[in-house]
Amino acid sequence: MIIVLKKEATDQEIDHVVEKIKGAGLNVHISKGKERTIIGAIGDEEKLAGIPLMAMSGVENVMAILKPYKLVSREFRKENSVLDIHGVSIGGKELRVIAGPCSVEKESTLIDTARLVQKAGATILRGGAFKPRTSPYDFQGLGLDGLKYLAAAKKATGLPLISELMDPRDIDLMCEYVDIIQIGARNMQNFRLLKEVGLTKKPVLLKRGLSATIKELLMSAEYIAAQGNSQIILCERGIRTFETATRNTLDISAVPVLKEETHLPVFIDPSHAAGRWDLVAPIAKAAVAVGADGLMIEVHHDPENALCDGAQSLKPNKFATLMAELRAVATAVGRSI
Ligand code: PEP
Ligand code: MN
Repeated sequence: MIIVLKKEATDQEIDHVVEKIKGAGLNVHISKGKERTIIGAIGDEEKLAGIPLMAMSGVENVMAILKPYKLVSREFRKENSVLDIHGVSIGGKELRVIAGPCSVEKESTLIDTARLVQKAGATILRGGAFKPRTSPYDFQGLGLDGLKYLAAAKKATGLPLISELMDPRDIDLMCEYVDIIQIGARNMQNFRLLKEVGLTKKPVLLKRGLSATIKELLMSAEYIAAQGNSQIILCERGIRTFETATRNTLDISAVPVLKEETHLPVFIDPSHAAGRWDLVAPIAKAAVAVGADGLMIEVHHDPENALCDGAQSLKPNKFATLMAELRAVATAVGRSI
């Protein structure tokens, strides 16, 4: 249930409504917008049946949210959520591009790559330190050393960092080093992990599961939001279909569907969708045209010898060319990069 407060509602009036809802055994999520405050009552709405919320001073409207995802729904919040990652806004008019290698390998090459993607216009650096590999014999990531190299790249460039968290036991370490926690496709429905990141104050980029529906993606985002963390970015990265020409099939229509259903920013990862570097540019352009708020692109200084996902990684010069092309597409749809 959403309780919309009047513009002039006082803190006391808001507190009173919150107390009543909590007293009935429901959780409360407060969203303070520029114009007005909205209270989300989360839990069994039946318990609020006997409480005359509409009669309380400061209350303008009381509405039921019909969708199963509440806090992340457009019903709950009409305006787009705009996240602030150390001065880098996400979800506003300006598109953001996250770039960097699939996994962190060496400090020196990571810093070089970070400098090059930054020069080309990327505003967030990616790099996996804990890698979810299909085979236990494949490179699993450098762990803590990887995070340290990321920190060195941040020091050299000022770029905020994103890296994947796979295990709740690493959460404190992750929070210490990265600015955005990535939850990978394979963990989209690891509900325990979602609850744990929901308890932190770190922004989270949640990737769509390999076989997850859009509704399931939104329900997973709700898990995070329900713990009190609404700083969530959704990321479409391709889903499993019968098609084998690409690593996954990018569900491009997920972007407009998600923009209708949720106020959260929506990104596209063309690299994991395509699995082939030569398809990254056309897919990235389509993503911008369809209304994505940003992209996550894998860039490697030497894709042929990359320890992970070399086939889908762009060389830094190709990435720079793509960024120039993306600017034109962004302008055409009233956005900028
Ligand atoms: C990644 O971003 O490196 C990754 C493993 O992505 P996904 O979870 O989408 O496969
Ligand atoms: Mn990868």
